Amino acid sequence: MPLKSLTINGFKSFADKTKIDFTTGITGIVGPNGSGKSNITEAIRWVMGEQSARSLRGDKMVDVIFAGSDTRSPMNRAEVTLEFDNSNHELKSPQENVTIRRKLFRNGDTEFSINNKACRLKDINAIFLDLGMGKQSFSIISQGRVEEIFNSKPVERRSIIEESAGVALFKQKKQQAENKLSETTDNLHRVSDIVSELS
Ligand code: ATP
Repeated sequence: MPLKSLTINGFKSFADKTKIDFTTGITGIVGPNGSGKSNITEAIRWVMGEQSARSLRGDKMVDVIFAGSDTRSPMNRAEVTLEFDNSNHELKSPQENVTIRRKLFRNGDTEFSINNKACRLKDINAIFLDLGMGKQSFSIISQGRVEEIFNSKPVERRSIIEESAGVALFKQKKQQAENKLSETTDNLHRVSDIVSELS
């Protein structure tokens, strides 16, 4: 499931729409300090569902929107699109190409889409969790994260390993099922109370 391209528009230092094609042979991105290399990996993490503004080196999520420069005014919207070659159907989609998009407007409105169809953050998370590629996984390790992983508590380290092994999705589904079960048990108790009141 190779990554085909990344398109960034209005995200951090990328005021102009910028498309990076990950053709065969690309193994690294180089550039002077402050040229935006980390912003590229952050754009990938963001479109894959990153919800922590701090881990994107900001205070609020809207800080990811291009804030303006000496020559350009700030933008009102950040948009990042990630395109995967899904010809081996590793992503659960019948499409040969899978496109994931996230938009954020300065008023805080957010939009997610998969193949141009609006979806929830949950759907984006599900696609990547299933592959052990979620925002917490080892697939993207930003500066400082290596030390953080080494210094993490065993429970935190276990959750990282579980996600990269693809177990996290099942844990999440188990939790959802347990919540439903507990709601249903409560409802049953309520029904049995009503029945005993009526009889
Ligand atoms: P280094 O090699 O030093 O780690 P880098 O190439 O990884 O640098 P980044 O950290 O990705 O560079 O980019 C930093 C640049 O992005 C800074 O010039 C900063 O002003 C700019 N930047 C960050 N957020 C925004 C924003 N919201 N709007 C405009 N520019 C931004």
